[in-house]
Amino acid sequence: MEKKNIKRYTRRQVRRNRRIAFFALLVLAALLVALLVWGISGLFHAEEGPDVSSSLSSSSHLLNGHSSSSSQAEESLPEESLPESSADSGASSQAVSSSSSSQPVSSAASSVGSDDPYYEADMPLLVNPDHLMPEGYEPTVVSIGDGYKLETKAAAAWQDMQAAAADDGVSLWAISAYRTLERQTELYEEKVAEYQALGYDEEQAKEEAGKWVAVPGTSEHCLGYAMDLCSLEDNFEDSAQFQWLQEHCADYGFILRYPKDKVEITKISYEPWHYRYVGSNHAKIIMSQGICLEEYLEQYGG
Ligand SMILES: [Zn+2]
Repeated sequence: MEKKNIKRYTRRQVRRNRRIAFFALLVLAALLVALLVWGISGLFHAEEGPDVSSSLSSSSHLLNGHSSSSSQAEESLPEESLPESSADSGASSQAVSSSSSSQPVSSAASSVGSDDPYYEADMPLLVNPDHLMPEGYEPTVVSIGDGYKLETKAAAAWQDMQAAAADDGVSLWAISAYRTLERQTELYEEKVAEYQALGYDEEQAKEEAGKWVAVPGTSEHCLGYAMDLCSLEDNFEDSAQFQWLQEHCADYGFILRYPKDKVEITKISYEPWHYRYVGSNHAKIIMSQGICLEEYLEQYGG
């Protein structure tokens, strides 16, 4: 009797142990599956987003034309002192964006690692007539020679780009780069005064001046990410320099900021000489797709 009971008990025990082992195995298997699924989905996430590495560089749909100058209005300028070409001349060029710290980063873009020195995890900062430069924004700038300055990373990219162009027999030089907000304000106010001297009232004078000199706070040049190269003439687009830039600027993180066919979006006239540093990952998509910064941020920005 006792023995029987013991036997029965052990059998039960064995069965129970087997059951426990079986469940433990099940739990382990479930854990493994969960781990696998998690790992795979992590991989996919990392691949989404504006990954730039796949986008190509060159491309040149943006070229052509001549443009007009200044932001919107060249027509009515008084002949005298107006800069021949657009907004930049005075100091303008307005819109901008840039990659600066203050903007949300597109997580997708940032997770794509890259040893590209011009890779920028942050989305470019947009500064244009509708998006003022953040208050108190002060880029860290360094000299690029000839009295010009650019934000540190943009400066390094520019110097590499200039050297690469020279290796290809193409000479690039800056004719404008970083401007302080004070300088931009000065230029704008001078222009307003010029119009007022011509008999425009203050409001009209400001409106006209804004076509030539970016309204303070709306110029990319104050971000330290924009530069004007070689010539403020529309026919710059016919030059070997422009051609070279179309093919290679994105490799160094620069974009043609005010394309001819995007004037309605940028609200800035075509400026074949104005380049904006945004980082190569963003620049390659923008240049290869023939879109402008506003469109890029609309499509890929968070
Ligand atoms: Zn410019």
